[in-house]
Amino acid sequence: MADKPTLTTSAGAPVPSNEHSLTAGQRGPVLMQDYQLLEKLAHQNRERIPERTVHAKGWGLQGTFTVTKDITRYTCAKLFSEIGKKTEVLSRWSTVAGEAGAADAERDVRGFSLKFYTEDGNWDMVGNNTPVFFVRDAYKFPDFIHTQKRHPKTNLRSPEAMFDFWAAQPECVHQVTILMSDRGIPKNPMHMNGYGSHTFSMWNEAGERFWVKFHFKTQQGHKFYTNADSEKLIGKTRESYQEDLYNAIENGEFPKWTLFIQVMPEEDALKTPYNPFDLTKVWPHGDYPLIEVGELEMHTNPENYFQMVENAAFSPSNIVPGISFSPDKMLQARVFSYADAHRYRLGTHYEALPANAPKAAQVNHYHKDGSMRFFTNDFGNPDAYYEPNQYEGPVADASVQEPPLRIDGDMNRYGNAQEVDDYTQPRALYEMFSDEQKQRLYSNYAAAMGPVSQGVKERWYAVLEKVHPEYAAGVRKACEAMDSDVNAVPITSETPTDAEDRNTAPDTVKAHDEVPAK
Ligand code: NDP
Repeated sequence: MADKPTLTTSAGAPVPSNEHSLTAGQRGPVLMQDYQLLEKLAHQNRERIPERTVHAKGWGLQGTFTVTKDITRYTCAKLFSEIGKKTEVLSRWSTVAGEAGAADAERDVRGFSLKFYTEDGNWDMVGNNTPVFFVRDAYKFPDFIHTQKRHPKTNLRSPEAMFDFWAAQPECVHQVTILMSDRGIPKNPMHMNGYGSHTFSMWNEAGERFWVKFHFKTQQGHKFYTNADSEKLIGKTRESYQEDLYNAIENGEFPKWTLFIQVMPEEDALKTPYNPFDLTKVWPHGDYPLIEVGELEMHTNPENYFQMVENAAFSPSNIVPGISFSPDKMLQARVFSYADAHRYRLGTHYEALPANAPKAAQVNHYHKDGSMRFFTNDFGNPDAYYEPNQYEGPVADASVQEPPLRIDGDMNRYGNAQEVDDYTQPRALYEMFSDEQKQRLYSNYAAAMGPVSQGVKERWYAVLEKVHPEYAAGVRKACEAMDSDVNAVPITSETPTDAEDRNTAPDTVKAHDEVPAK
């Protein structure tokens, strides 16, 4: 057998034993001076960091983005500078509400986060598998998340709280419709799209600004589980996404997505019938068609999950020259709150961790000290620790400033100031569903709303009524059928009656291909 390397302390000294405590006599007691024992136990106590308040359960891969089409007329971002250009990417997909040990195949929105390690620093696309979100103002975000987490007394998830909140926020109905549709339980992240969701901006060499939406479309096709499928699956494994992703990579089946953008000239933002910076709205493809940009291929399982996925810190604040923000109120808030979450969760210098460390040729900043300052950052001259200085310390580069953006308006809180149409877009989505998709939508609601009080149900039906009377009637009927038979199992078109199936889960649970909506 080849010689094994010597085990050392974390300070680098050889360790005499990793099995036997240092004791006074064969029977003990243990001596305080057995510092390596204390160190080993103390480290174990520190092996967990606070889990993310949202998106705690996640799965990640490493891969490559390749430019396939020229979009330099819209952006001077270097990662898009030429066809064929490749950029390393780290992904993390996640559920929103479940804790770190939650089952993967639960009905929820999925996070779809990408970190592009560009030559100009990291660009993070912190998206979801849906193009819209539940609320359009960050004031509502903590309350919304409280409804998704555990009730303070029962310590259980509370459908009553979820639907009470949603019924009071009709802007939610677009996202809730997607959540309750087939796309609410993707088979795994390989079979779902990713959307930047917010409106971002790009600017080109000539200083022209465009508003932009990002769409990562799965090349594996959309596949989903019904509620009945997922119940069976979760009874067998809670880790189905991790298993599917890990095994796909080990088998050389590398998932791919095509990146498209929608592009809106800057002035158009004043003309659209919807606010193009409202996170509860899409831009119809008919108005702003998808423009192909490139291909994302994820091909590598991280060597160490904790180091690369748990420690990954994605934040919409990470932009690069040529890409920027928009007035979207939710985006503005996320620019602060994501980075702040990572400071709390990982520490002051979280961006120096391997998962987050930029691969740009230079990383020069004047941030100092704090916990885990494990980099020198003195630019070769210890006197240059402030700016401006008389030495060769780094200086800002005004050429990367984005073009000026005209902002008009009086300072106010505009929530109810104008009528917003929250129903046309979910109606367009509902009308795309086939009859089978609608039946599954209704039964998914019935399963979710089972424990909800009649008063809250009525308020939610009233919201659905404004989307489409048939939608409201379908959900009401499914809920009433559930109420009248407390033992009923929600009916899906794949599993006409699965009451007896519940005790006889099949060896495999088959995901369903999404039938094209039209
Ligand atoms: P289109 O017919 O051009 O696009 C419809 C979109 O709906 C496609 O992107 C399709 O995704 C997506 N879709 C299909 N089934 C579902 C589902 N169960 N949940 C979520 N999305 C689904 O129409 P419009 O652009 O005019 O949009 C009509 C409605 O479609 C919108 O109001 C919105 O609800 C929804 N939608 C629109 C998107 C957009 O950016 N315009 C993006 C996604 C949804 P895919 O391409 O993967 O098949």
